[in-house]
Amino acid sequence: MKLVSGNRLWIQTNPILSQYPYLTENTECEVAIIGGGVIGAICAYYFTEAGINTILVDKNIIGYGSTSASTSILQYEVDYDLTELQVKIGLEQAVQGFKLCSQAVSDLEKIISQLEDKCDFSLRECFYYTANKSDVRQIEREYKLRQEQGFPVEYLDHQAAQGRFSFPVEAGIYSSQGAAQIDPYRFVHALLTKAIDKGLRIIENTEIIEQKNKNGYVELETNNHKKIQTKKVLIATGYEGREYFKKRIVNLTRSFTLATKPIKAFAGWYHRCIIRDNESPYTYLRDTGDNRIIIGGQDIRIGGKNSGMAQLKDIEEVVEQQYVLLGNKLKSYFPEIGDLEVEYKFNGIFGETKDGLPYIGEHEGYPNYYFCLCYGSNGILYGIQAGQILRDLHLGTKRTELELYRFNR
Ligand SMILES: Cc1cc2nc3c(=O)[nH]c(=O)nc-3n(C[C@H](O)[C@H](O)[C@H](O)COP(=O)(O)OP(=O)(O)OC[C@H]3O[C@@H](n4cnc5c(N)ncnc54)[C@H](O)[C@@H]3O)c2cc1C
Repeated sequence: MKLVSGNRLWIQTNPILSQYPYLTENTECEVAIIGGGVIGAICAYYFTEAGINTILVDKNIIGYGSTSASTSILQYEVDYDLTELQVKIGLEQAVQGFKLCSQAVSDLEKIISQLEDKCDFSLRECFYYTANKSDVRQIEREYKLRQEQGFPVEYLDHQAAQGRFSFPVEAGIYSSQGAAQIDPYRFVHALLTKAIDKGLRIIENTEIIEQKNKNGYVELETNNHKKIQTKKVLIATGYEGREYFKKRIVNLTRSFTLATKPIKAFAGWYHRCIIRDNESPYTYLRDTGDNRIIIGGQDIRIGGKNSGMAQLKDIEEVVEQQYVLLGNKLKSYFPEIGDLEVEYKFNGIFGETKDGLPYIGEHEGYPNYYFCLCYGSNGILYGIQAGQILRDLHLGTKRTELELYRFNR
């Protein structure tokens, strides 16, 4: 699979922030994290903070996997509406899923306060809306349920929304809390810098090619035939992590993103909030600290007649067409912004689980392994939760969230 492609904003606007050695001799640790994307970095942060002797290994450049194509919107709402999620998993668990993401935004804010680089993090308001008259009832129902469950939401009808936004809205839910945004690439390096201070060892450009579960430990072999002996392995290999399982645990799409040049004024965009519509696939927008607009969406499902989408083979025209469609959408969102000019176009494989929730925890087929497969549009917030849940599991406490995020659910 070609995980990412194009001119990715985060790695184009930042230099390579740090480089790490490859493994030159056999070594040992208590926990080996495979995967140096944002999820592996968050886990490394929490594990080393707890004093656990940890190694993080990546086969590539740290932070250059899916993380480099992430829009990095951090929101309490998951991929499914609360009304839909309650049908799938029950009201109590659905509300728990939303509340855990809201808590993760606060936890991430706390982490940022301890990092030297603030990673362009900012708290945001967010707006979820429909432009279809036929979906107004759905948005009303969703609003009522969120309000009953204590989320800080405001209902905007067509007229109220037109006072705030320059694009057509029939109904929407405006949330005053529970959302934020970040530069994911800087976040990875800021976390790792902190974790190194607490003893983390990082191995870059080193692939784990073999894994042998022995008596009470796991032996990992690298592509240069060095060995890491570890009590536990933590899998944070992103969408490649699905390969550990025969059963399909994630549906893959390719998602497309544009980022503009910095613009002068955000006319027609109330409070520069995070925006998402209720289409399938949905479109989402955010800004950046240097006044760019990021718009994402136009996802194409991978598989069947779209199997070329996985490798990006012979489909340049399709890819270009998705960027054009996104660009047109952007203009229709903000007709009053005169200086909209696209500077970066990129795309990445994206995955959704059947309920929008991640897979975090142990799996019966893999003793001595922790899995941290944070799929879905809330991947980073799931990573924040996973870092804490897996750290506690390692230290002997089984948190209740393990039930919500378990395999075979
Ligand atoms: C287009 C797009 C938009 C997104 N938008 C959002 C968003 O708005 N908000 C949000 O929260 N999340 C979003 N996400 C998801 C979020 O970014 C993901 O959770 C994240 O990208 C996955 O991170 P990861 O660290 O698990 O994977 P990756 O970043 O892919 O890191 C996995 C690493 O594992 C390494 N690896 C794999 N196999 C091996 C091996 N055998 N040996 C050594 N190393 C190995 C790879 O080299 C890679 O660097 C988005 C993702 C995409 C692609």
